[in-house]
Amino acid sequence: MKIGVYVCHCGSNIAGRVDVAEVAEWVSGLPHVAVTRDYEFMCSSLGQEMIKDDIRDLGVDRVVVACCTPRMHEPTFQRAVSEAGLNPYYFEQANIREQCSWVHQDRDEATLKAKALVGAAVSRVRHHQPLSVNTVSIHPATLVVGAGITGIQAALELADADYPVYLVEREPSIGGRMAQLDETFPTLDCSA
Ligand code: SF4
Repeated sequence: MKIGVYVCHCGSNIAGRVDVAEVAEWVSGLPHVAVTRDYEFMCSSLGQEMIKDDIRDLGVDRVVVACCTPRMHEPTFQRAVSEAGLNPYYFEQANIREQCSWVHQDRDEATLKAKALVGAAVSRVRHHQPLSVNTVSIHPATLVVGAGITGIQAALELADADYPVYLVEREPSIGGRMAQLDETFPTLDCSA
C-alpha cells in the first residue's frame, strides 16, 4: 500500500493559521505514507495533476487530501483519482479549513489539530475498499405518509416536479397539528 498525502494551503485560508509544511513533514512518518506534498491550491488543475502523476509514476494507491470540506471538493478529487486509473473510493479528505484554520486562533494548536485530522484520514484510508456506482430503475410514483404541513409540502413539491404522488392520512382531515391551531404568531393568521 502506498498512500499519497497532499496538504493544501488554500492561499492564506489554511496556511495563514496552520503550518502546512510541518503537517506534511509529520505525516510523512506515518505507516504506508509514500509521498507527502504541500501545495498552494490543490483543487487547481496543477494540484490535481500532481495527484495523478504520483498515482501513475510512483504507484500511489490511496490518496488523502487535507483541504476544505468534502461538500466542496470531494467530487473534484474523486474524479482526478479516477482519471488516473484508481478506484475513486480510495480517496479520503481531511477538512483542515472549516474544521481547523477557520475556527482557531492559535497557530501551534491549529497545527496540532491539523495533524490529528490528517492522521485520522490516513488511518481511515488504509481500510477503504473499492466501490462501484450502480444505476437502478425506480418507480416514479411516490407515497407520502402523513398529511401534516411537512407531508403536504413534500407532496406539493413532488407534484410540481411532475411525479405522481399519493398522500396518505389516517385522520379524517389533513393539516395535522397545525390545523388545530387558531391564530399563529406573528401575523395571527388562521392556520387552517
Ligand atoms: S482544495 Fe479547498 S482548501 Fe484547497 S485551494 Fe481548493 S478550495 Fe481551498
